[in-house]
Amino acid sequence: MPYDFDLFVIGAGSGGVRAARFAAGYGARVAVAESRYLGGTCVNVGCVPKKLLVYGAHFADDFEQAEGFGWSLGEATFDWATLIANKNREILRLNGIYRNLLVNSGVTLLESHARIVDAHTVEVDGQRFSAATILVATGGWPQIPDIPGKDLAISSNEAFFLKELPKRVLVVGGGYIAVEFASIFHGLGTQTSLLYRGELFMRGFDGAVRQHLKAELEKKGLDLQFNSDIARIDRHEDGLLATLKDGRQLQADCVFYATGRQPMLENLGLENTGVELTDKGFIKVDDNYQTSEPSILAIGDVIGRVQLTPVALSEGMAVARRLFKPEEYRPVDYATIPTAVFSLPNIGTVGLTEEDARSQGYAVQVFESRFRAMKLTLTDSQERTLMKLVVDAKTDRVLGCHMVGPEAGEIIQGLAVALKAGATKRVFDDTLGIHPTAAEEFVTMRTPVTA
Ligand code: FAD
Ligand code: NDP
Repeated sequence: MPYDFDLFVIGAGSGGVRAARFAAGYGARVAVAESRYLGGTCVNVGCVPKKLLVYGAHFADDFEQAEGFGWSLGEATFDWATLIANKNREILRLNGIYRNLLVNSGVTLLESHARIVDAHTVEVDGQRFSAATILVATGGWPQIPDIPGKDLAISSNEAFFLKELPKRVLVVGGGYIAVEFASIFHGLGTQTSLLYRGELFMRGFDGAVRQHLKAELEKKGLDLQFNSDIARIDRHEDGLLATLKDGRQLQADCVFYATGRQPMLENLGLENTGVELTDKGFIKVDDNYQTSEPSILAIGDVIGRVQLTPVALSEGMAVARRLFKPEEYRPVDYATIPTAVFSLPNIGTVGLTEEDARSQGYAVQVFESRFRAMKLTLTDSQERTLMKLVVDAKTDRVLGCHMVGPEAGEIIQGLAVALKAGATKRVFDDTLGIHPTAAEEFVTMRTPVTA
């Protein structure tokens, strides 16, 4: 008996939309179910609104620096409600674009929760649909450790819709979301402390990058408390009271947890299938994103490989091509994934950290440049930029590029192309700079700091 659809996608986020659109474009009969918001995490409570808030927070530096260039602006005031309302309007516009993209590419869109009934059947609003292949692209959800008072804390999901900008915030965590939101709150004028359980935040990033970001955030007046973790949260006459594991107590109006994300499997019906989970609870897949149930595939945050939008997009495209346009199929290359952290200042990075390169047995040459950006020379800002290249001394290949400074993401994106093409340090040296830019430092570093 023929199926209702060739592909049934659960979740219209980054990965699901990409897979659905491409599959439909290749002539497949495709349905997508979305229970919450078109565009998923990235568009609604992730990359996009986050970047808008980061832009908002950056104006604090811009106003301060403008004076050095002769501008006098009077006292700047900030209205959180305006920023959130404008952000919401933009997200609504994007939701509409996603709806059009799907519908115009011939995808059947079901705006409701989907539950898998068996290996080839999905139920949406009481209606059952059969499909040759089911693609789970349900993303993730913030996880907050189970401590007394956890219900008093918020996650990034709520932060985007706060009615008021809190006066005092404790941000818990030491990864992407923690440093980005600590920068947002601090930039907008909130008294902000970041509490991280370990010695130094941003585990997995290059050591020099982690140290540099720490120094720069502290220079800006952000309160960084490492080796600190909250044991309980209580209501207090004046907001919230967080009691730390070492007995210290901190008052705040808002406690914001950014302690990682778990896969979204709620009421998905996986128990009706042979789909297995990994030790960490993510959906287990093979190299073709196939789960332990042959007709069910999974991509994106729900498989817990690399939780980034461009990765989910590539996985979605790989699935669509392998199923419906195999001659164009290319596997996702997980080796050289560029990434940026939109803290203020930004981190941009691609390739191996110095620590990883060494532990993988490379004879490593490191080139580093630390400088005060030209734009700041007429201002009081003492912010410094870090650029670092990790090079394989044997082959001269550049293994990693790392940066902390303005527009690090924009700069590293271009260098990611060079790394993907296997550029050597010689190629970097032979490339002419664009003057005067910060980025030209990446092609003018001549002397290694470590042999
Ligand atoms: P999602 O985008 O989460 O989409 C899953 C969709 O499935 C959701 O819309 C959900 O409602 C829907 N769904 C779930 N269950 C069901 C069901 N049973 N039935 C129907 N629908 C269902 N990445 C970057 O690359 N750059 C960034 O700057 C960046 N910033 C981020 C900032 C924050 C605060 C967060 C939280 C994440 C950020 N990310 C960023 C990560 C990025 O958002 C995710 O990696 C990406 O959205 C994953 O895409 P996905 O398709 O796997 O899942
Ligand atoms: P991350 O995995 O980046 O960081 C989680 C942080 O929380 C780590 O510092 C971790 O510490 C800490 N942590 C974990 N569990 C606990 C606990 N029980 N108690 C105290 N601390 C804890 O997750 P995020 O939530 O910041 O972001 C989720 C993912 O979303 C990111 O990994 C990234 O893939 C994506 N993202 C990407 C962005 C971008 O591209 N710019 C922006 C935002 C998110 P430890 O290191 O010690 O384990």
